Amino acid sequence: MMLSKSDPDEIQSFVSDASYMPGGFASRVIFPESAAEVAEVLASATHEGTPVTVSGAGTGTVAGRVPFGGYVLATDRLNKIKSIVREEAGGRTVVEAGVVLADLQRLLEPEALLYPPDPTERSCFLGGNVATNASGARTFKYGPTRNYVERLRIVLATGDLVDLRRRELRADASGRIEIPLQSGRTIEARLPSYRMPQVRKHASGYYVAPGMDLLDLFIGSEGTLGVIVEAEVKLLPKPEGLIAGIVFFKDQYELLAFVRETRNLSLQNRAKQARAGKTALSALESRLEDVWPLVPSSAVGAIFFEQEVSAKTEEDLLTTWYEYLQAHGALLDDSWFATNEQDQAKLREFRHQLPVLMNEWFARYKKQKVSTDMAVPDDEFAGMLRFYEETLLASDLRYTIFGHIGDNHVHVNILPRNDTEATKARRVYMQLVRQAVKVGGTISAEHGIGKLKREYLREMYTQEHLREMAALKRSFDPAGILGRGNIFSEDLLS
Ligand SMILES: Cc1cc2nc3c(=O)[nH]c(=O)nc-3n(C[C@H](O)[C@H](O)[C@H](O)COP(=O)(O)OP(=O)(O)OC[C@H]3O[C@@H](n4cnc5c(N)ncnc54)[C@H](O)[C@@H]3O)c2cc1C
Repeated sequence: MMLSKSDPDEIQSFVSDASYMPGGFASRVIFPESAAEVAEVLASATHEGTPVTVSGAGTGTVAGRVPFGGYVLATDRLNKIKSIVREEAGGRTVVEAGVVLADLQRLLEPEALLYPPDPTERSCFLGGNVATNASGARTFKYGPTRNYVERLRIVLATGDLVDLRRRELRADASGRIEIPLQSGRTIEARLPSYRMPQVRKHASGYYVAPGMDLLDLFIGSEGTLGVIVEAEVKLLPKPEGLIAGIVFFKDQYELLAFVRETRNLSLQNRAKQARAGKTALSALESRLEDVWPLVPSSAVGAIFFEQEVSAKTEEDLLTTWYEYLQAHGALLDDSWFATNEQDQAKLREFRHQLPVLMNEWFARYKKQKVSTDMAVPDDEFAGMLRFYEETLLASDLRYTIFGHIGDNHVHVNILPRNDTEATKARRVYMQLVRQAVKVGGTISAEHGIGKLKREYLREMYTQEHLREMAALKRSFDPAGILGRGNIFSEDLLS
């Protein structure tokens, strides 16, 4: 018998997520333990017309798993790591959707294998990562979750099971798709007609490209096209060694020039970069009392980088980083470098405290998250950063800027303390979104749209594009029960 809970106290933690969107509710939370049980729940929900929201670990930041009625389908009990296979260069693993990322990472560590996608909040589930195409700390170098998914087992809203392997099914050049089901039925549909922006990271709406691999349609579909029950993902050999640093700059122009110059070098040499601005550094002050005094007071920003090395290359690469940093006036004597795993973990934790701190702020003031997620093309980034800072300074609101500078992708967190400031913050957010779209950017580079960013997606895609997305969804989910309200408004489903 499938576990199902309906006591409001027991299901409370399943009707919210890290977006802090209020008001989520559901009549019950169901915990299937196999694909067959997922199929049973979904087929009967389709029959009844009951909405179903899929739940991973709830670390998503855009309210994708916040239900407004119906059932929650929790993937917690689909938590088996089915196999880890070593191959000549790396390997692969087959995991169920509810496997916790940190658990997988812990198992891979002694095998000297690496699963690169890492949204830094490692309590998330692998199924949630695929459903959001999660990126994170290492994406500049390794790419998002999409790059590692080789096969998905998906249960559609009708209860049909789909096993999709990469390079197996493609859309045709005109955007027509066909997916044969085990039942003998074939789903025929058409991809939306928009072109995705030319940016390094993109998580806004369905992935669409001419002749695309159909596996990619489900990656990043935010619980709207089907329930991912199992994934096979690629693994890489764990790098032999790593050097890492948090380097402070006193001049923003130099910081940006440093990033531009080292970007190509980094891509060649497999490094990764992230950035925190002055306001973000100050935000860490209260949290990190023991390390805070070590942050130089003249710093306007910091770059966190990691670089893979081997015994042969370590010295040369350290020298190269040092030379580039020196050429750009980095505060070298006051910066932090780490060559062993323990110190590197401390630097990562320093960086991870930024989003954690922001989430705590929104929770404390009971305010919905106001955190941007735009990425823009390479040539537009410096101008976009200037636009962020000028607009925010003029707004008189509190804010922080940090993110993934190698990918031209920073998060602006606007920190309202009351309703007036919250309204103003949302207005400012819209200004920033419009500018990003104007310069060819995406409104979400990694967190997705969920329910929180739907109005911003309308700035990027037309009403017709949204209708096309809804029509595509209806081909997989005729009763429109799955992930209602995610990506586009529910009105488009009727
Ligand atoms: C402190 C912090 C830092 C973060 N940093 C990053 C970052 O750097 N990069 C990044 O990309 N994200 C980041 N995130 C966001 C988050 O960790 C990712 O979005 C993660 O992939 C969500 O996984 P989850 O299991 O928690 O999914 P949930 O939040 O439970 O769900 C997310 C969405 O996926 C759907 N879903 C979940 N499981 C399935 C499934 N099996 N089948 C179909 N749909 C499903 C849900 O319905 C929902 O729409 C951060 C979050 C926090 C709290």
